[in-house]
Amino acid sequence: MTIPLTLITGGSRGIGAATARRLAQAGHDIAINYRHDEAAAQAVAAEVRALGRRALCLQADIADADQVGRMFEAIDQGLGTVTGLVNNAGIVAPAARFLDTTPERWQRLFDVNVQGLLLCTHAAARRMSTRLGGAGGCIVNLSSRASEYGSPNVYVDYAASKGAVDVLTRGLGRELISEGIRINGVRPGIIDTEIHADSHTADLLPQRTRDIPIGRIGRAEEIAEAIAWLLSDAASYTVGTMLDVSGGR
Ligand code: NAP
Repeated sequence: MTIPLTLITGGSRGIGAATARRLAQAGHDIAINYRHDEAAAQAVAAEVRALGRRALCLQADIADADQVGRMFEAIDQGLGTVTGLVNNAGIVAPAARFLDTTPERWQRLFDVNVQGLLLCTHAAARRMSTRLGGAGGCIVNLSSRASEYGSPNVYVDYAASKGAVDVLTRGLGRELISEGIRINGVRPGIIDTEIHADSHTADLLPQRTRDIPIGRIGRAEEIAEAIAWLLSDAASYTVGTMLDVSGGR
């Protein structure tokens, strides 16, 4: 039986790290991409290896085409051809009203959250495509419930970048299934990770809990569970769709 090999972008922390642990439990070898924090990536790799699976850490800014190209070549050489991709790496920006934001900020959000996802999907899908001689594969994209709410007064630019992720999931899901690549997305609600420190909204989390029907913020492991299901054969008829994992919000 072929052992699945899955690249998780931003696999060093938060939802990505929880996904690495969950997929290793499900028998995947894991390529862990990160941007800054090598120690965090190596700690996740050690957990993957302790579960009996192979792991490789790869530093790359997913917004940079050359770095993404080198990352995929390193995975080819170090672990083999990817069968799975979790487009998880994403950034927010400090909470602000739209008129107080800048073109530089919008550019960086779209460079990482949209261009980065396109670059990684292109590189992975060219390896997976049965039309191009590959063996097929699965991709899961991390969007956000913000894509539906629009995040007024907080980060409409981030929400718009996640709207693009939804459209790419629907469009590419329907386009690439004919080449053996099954693509879906997950829209988390508010999840307890370090990302909220980057948007300077961490202090507001207890207050925001009031807007969540289930009455609490989510755990990274609860998102990892949905990602693992979408990547598994149990989701074999699920194509081009978004799964909301948001406590009802
Ligand atoms: P997080 O805790 O901030 O972790 C982000 C991860 O992405 C880190 O591993 C980071 O690596 C990596 N990363 C950031 N920019 C990168 C880049 N340019 N190139 C490569 N790696 C990069 O984030 P999270 O909360 O787990 O979020 C994961 C995904 O879920 C994101 O797409 C986010 O938009 C989405 N999401 C999160 C929530 C939430 O409430 N947490 C809600 C909805 C959607 P370094 O540490 O090395 O920089």
